[in-house]
Amino acid sequence: MTHPLLIGLNAQQQRAVQAIHGPVLVLAGPGSGKTRVLTHRIAYLINEVGVRPYNILAVTFTNKAAREMRERLSNLIGESRAHDVMMGTFHSICARWLRRDIQHLQRANDFVVYDADDQQRVMKQILRELDLSEKQYNPRSIHARISAAKNELIGVAEFARSVSSYFDEIVLRCYERYEKQLFANNALDFDDLLLKTVNLFEYHSEVLARYAERYVHVMVDEVQDTNRVQFSLVNHVGAGHNNYFLIGDIQQSIYAWRGARLANVREFEEAHPDVQIIPLEQNYRSTQPILDVAQSIIDAAHDRRHTTKIWTDQQDGDLVSLVEAYDHNEEARWVADEIMRIRGRDGRSLDDFAVMYRTNAQSRAFEEAMISRGLRYKLVGGTRFYERKEIKDIVAYLRIIHNPHDEVSLLRVINVPGRSIGDRTQQELLQWARNLDISIWDALELLVTNEAQNPPIGGRARNAVEQFQKLVAGLRDLRHDLMLGELIQRLLERVPFQELLVAEYGEEEGAERWENILELQNVSMEYLALPTEDQLPRFLEEVALVSDVDSLDTTKAREPGVTLITLHQAKGLEYPVVFLAGLEEGLLPHGRSIDDPESIEEERRLLYVGTTRAKQRLYMLYAFKRATWGRTDLTIPSRFLGDIPKDLLQRTPTREVKQMPVHAATQWQSSTPQRTRGAQPSSSSMWSGASGSARPKRPEREPSAASYSAGDKVRHANFGEGVVVSSKMVGDDEEVTVAFPGKGVKKLLAAFAKLERV
Ligand code: ATP
Ligand code: MG
Repeated sequence: MTHPLLIGLNAQQQRAVQAIHGPVLVLAGPGSGKTRVLTHRIAYLINEVGVRPYNILAVTFTNKAAREMRERLSNLIGESRAHDVMMGTFHSICARWLRRDIQHLQRANDFVVYDADDQQRVMKQILRELDLSEKQYNPRSIHARISAAKNELIGVAEFARSVSSYFDEIVLRCYERYEKQLFANNALDFDDLLLKTVNLFEYHSEVLARYAERYVHVMVDEVQDTNRVQFSLVNHVGAGHNNYFLIGDIQQSIYAWRGARLANVREFEEAHPDVQIIPLEQNYRSTQPILDVAQSIIDAAHDRRHTTKIWTDQQDGDLVSLVEAYDHNEEARWVADEIMRIRGRDGRSLDDFAVMYRTNAQSRAFEEAMISRGLRYKLVGGTRFYERKEIKDIVAYLRIIHNPHDEVSLLRVINVPGRSIGDRTQQELLQWARNLDISIWDALELLVTNEAQNPPIGGRARNAVEQFQKLVAGLRDLRHDLMLGELIQRLLERVPFQELLVAEYGEEEGAERWENILELQNVSMEYLALPTEDQLPRFLEEVALVSDVDSLDTTKAREPGVTLITLHQAKGLEYPVVFLAGLEEGLLPHGRSIDDPESIEEERRLLYVGTTRAKQRLYMLYAFKRATWGRTDLTIPSRFLGDIPKDLLQRTPTREVKQMPVHAATQWQSSTPQRTRGAQPSSSSMWSGASGSARPKRPEREPSAASYSAGDKVRHANFGEGVVVSSKMVGDDEEVTVAFPGKGVKKLLAAFAKLERV
C-alpha cells in the first residue's frame, strides 16, 4: 500500500521523498514539484521514519516560503510537530543560532540586526568621520563592496591583504570603522548574521559539533542561488550526518549579481561522489503553450546547462499573448482593464493575478491604474510597511528599550518628537562619548546621575536630554514584565505620536500614518504565545528580517488583491494569470547588463523564471515609448522576444491600436522599414531592427555600410560613455543603438550624434 504521504506524488517524486540516506541532489525544472517534494519529505521523515522534528533543518529562500511550508507541513502532520522543525531563510536561522551562541565570539546576545536603512546611516556617519565626501564616495557602493566581501567570507584583515586600488583603500578604511561601529552598537548587519555564524563554527569546533550532531537532515531549496558563505554553512552543519537534500534549478539562477555561485552545486557533486541525483520531469504548474514559450527562451541561451526537458499533460490552453502598448501608462491601463475583463468572465479572484516587472520603479504606473479602477493590489517591494518613517521611529524606540547601546536607533529618536535636542547637541554628545570611550547611552546615564565632570551640554539641552534618558530608562524597567503589545501601549501613552503626526502631516495623512502605528499593535498580537520576555527580542529580529516578499502578507494583505512584484522576488511563486511588463531593451535585459554577455544570460534566465510562474494565462507586454530618467524615448522590444517562434504567440491589440490611423499600416510597407506602432511584424528581424518613427531631416550623404558594431565603446556629449548594442543603415543614415549606463538605451543617428569612439 502506498504511504499516505506519498499519495499525490509521481514515481520520481516518491523516490526523492524516500531517498533519506546520504547526499541527494534534485535538479529539476520549474513547476516540477521540487518544493512540494521537500515538504512531503519532511513529513515522511517525521511520521514514517520517526525522525524528531527538532533534528531537521530546512532552508527556504524567503520567510514567506518558510511560513507556507510550515503551514502545509502542519496540514500533513499536525501543528505541534511542524512547529519544531528548524525552518527559515539562512538569515533567520543564523539569527536564532547566534542569539544562543554568539557569546563565544565575545559578543552579547541582545544584539540588534541593522536593516538596509540602518546600514546606510552608519556608512554615512563613517564617511563624515573620515572627512570623505558622500558625493565622491557613494555610501551605497562602499557598503555594497563590504557586503560582497563578507559574502565571500573576507573579513577586514583579509580584505587588507588584497587591496589593489585606491577605491579599495577607501573601502578598507570604511570597512574597519564600520565593523568597530557595529561592534560598539552591539549590532549585526544582514551579512554578519551569516559570516559570524561561519566564524562561530570555524573558531569553536565544540559549538559546531553540537549543531552538526543535532541536524540529522539538512535540506535546502533554491540551492542554485546560494552564495559562498551560505554554502559553507550548509557544508558545516550537514557534515555530522552527511544527509543532505539539495533542490534547485540551474536554469533559474538569477542572483549571480549578489554573489550566488553555481560552482557550489558542482563542487558539492565533486566532494560527494556518492551523491544521488534525482530528476523530476513532469511540470504540474503550467499549460503546454506557456511551457513552449519558456522553453524557446531558455533554448536560445548561449550556455545550455543541464537541460532536462519538462513536459505537462495540460496540453490545452490559451496561446501566450504579446501586447504592444503605446507607452508605460497605456501598458498599465491595459493590464488593469484586462484584469477587470477576465475576472468577471472567468469568475477569478484578484489573488489569481500577478504583474511582474524588472525594476521597482515600474510599479508606480500599475499602482495608479489599479487605484483608478478600484482594484486592490499588493505591492511587493516599494515603501514597505516597516520602512515607513513612523513605523521605523517606533521600532527604533523598541530597539533602544531592548538594547540602549544601539546608537543608530538612539540618534534616530533622541529628537522624536522634537525636544530641542538639535544636531549640535547630538554631535557634542557623540564626541563626548567617543572621548570617554563609552556609548552615548552610558554618557546619558552619567548626566542623569550627575557623575559627569564638565559635561559638554547644559541648560535646556541638558534638561531635554535627561528627560529622554528617563523616558527610555522607565520603559526599559518594564520590558521583562509587559507583553509586547502592552509595552508599545505604554510607549504611545508617554510619547504623543498621534498629535505629532497630525501636526506634521495634516489631518488626513497624519491619521493614515497613525493607522500604521495601530497596525503595529496588531502585529504584536502574533507574539502572544511566546514567554513575555522573549516577545520583544523576537519581534525586533523578525522586523529586521522581513524580506521584500514578505510584504505580501503585511497590513491589509489578507484581502484578495493583484500582486505587483519584481521578477527577482517572484521566484518559487505561481499565479494563474501573469503579466510580464516592460519587455524592452534596457529594462529586460537591464541597461546595466548590456555590455556583459554573462549578465545578459542571467537576464534571460530571469525572463524564464517569469514565464514559468504562470499557470493558465501569460501575457508579455512592451511599450512603444517609455519615460525613463525624466525623458520619453522610443523603445526596442526585448531581444529575448525574438527567440520565441511566432506561432507560439498571439498578438493582442490594445484599444488604441484598433483606432490607429490607416497611414501607419502604409508606412510599414515603405521601402525603409520603420517600426510603426501597431504594425504586424513581417519577420523576426522586426524585433531587433526597430527604429523610431519620428526622425530628423537627414543630411545628404552617400549610402554606406554601418561603421559601428555591437560592443564598440563610444562617448556622447550628453549621455557620457556607452556601449553600442546594434547599428544598422536606415536609408542613408546609420542608426546606432547605444546603452548608456544609468541613462538608458538611446537610438542615435550617427550623422547627428557626434559620437566619439573610446
Ligand atoms: P519552482 O522551480 O518554480 O520553484 P517547483 O519545482 O518547486 O517549482 P512546486 O512549486 O513544488 O514546483 O510545484 C508546482 C505546482 O505543482 C504546485 O502547485 C504543486 O502543488 C503542484 N504539484 C507538484 N507535484 C504534483 C503532483 N504530483 N500532482 C499534482 N500537483 C503537483
Ligand atoms: Mg520551488
